[in-house]
Amino acid sequence: MLFRRLLPAIAAVAALALASACGSGGDDTLKGKAEDGELTIGIRFDQPGLGQRRLDGKFVGFDVEVAKYVAGKLGVPESGITWKEARSADREKMIADGSVDFVVATYSITDKRKEKVAFAGPYFQTGQGILVRYTEEDITGPETLNGKRLCSVTGSTSAQKVASEFAQGVELVEYGQYSDCVTALLAGNVDAVTTDEVILAGYVAENPELLKLVGNTFTTERYGVGLAKGDSAGRAEVNAAIEQMVGSGEWRKALERNIGQAGVQLPEPPRVTEK
Ligand code: GLU
Repeated sequence: MLFRRLLPAIAAVAALALASACGSGGDDTLKGKAEDGELTIGIRFDQPGLGQRRLDGKFVGFDVEVAKYVAGKLGVPESGITWKEARSADREKMIADGSVDFVVATYSITDKRKEKVAFAGPYFQTGQGILVRYTEEDITGPETLNGKRLCSVTGSTSAQKVASEFAQGVELVEYGQYSDCVTALLAGNVDAVTTDEVILAGYVAENPELLKLVGNTFTTERYGVGLAKGDSAGRAEVNAAIEQMVGSGEWRKALERNIGQAGVQLPEPPRVTEK
């Protein structure tokens, strides 16, 4: 009798064990997730040169190439990748709730973010800069922003920097993505846009007669590949892929292909430190 009553529970436990043994992807590590030849990767859709969804539906940019290289090393071809947009404010959540397997999206490595996610890399280094309209004469750097409307993106280190360092004198306007800041700048609704120079340079390359960069960079941003906290095996695999991409010369080629026209000095590859 007791056994009969327990039967459904036993069956459920057996079914669970079976599902985890031969379900898609085997286990919770990045390697396990890649086992079925498919991965979901978070990138940006609106950042020329880095992560961009073209009108024909193709995804292009340096971050996209890094993502494809890493996926390839995990045994997943481009046809097995599902791309998802991972905006600044959504990245930690998307990694933590499993809606993406990893993120390559101009994602700066910070201690605060490390409380929620793990990082591999870095694979790129840049710094925060300022973008203005081509005709702008008053704004020449961060120290000339007083009384101006400055646009950045919610959840970014760039907006945090403004809030912590220029908050008294500057009116911070926050949008969900940088392309909206650039639209607001071109329309005259804000006076400047701030984020990483390499991102801003991509917009300048698209509109060189309307936009320009001013001043020097004033932070250091190290881009990492974000993945589930605690997946140290996954991190080691991604680090190995980044090191191979650099060592094989593919890293520099991808950088030249995607960022070469943007008019910023191409940096040397950073050393992988997130071990
Ligand atoms: N790299 C900075 C960050 O991770 C700014 C760029 C972005 O918002 O993606 O917050």
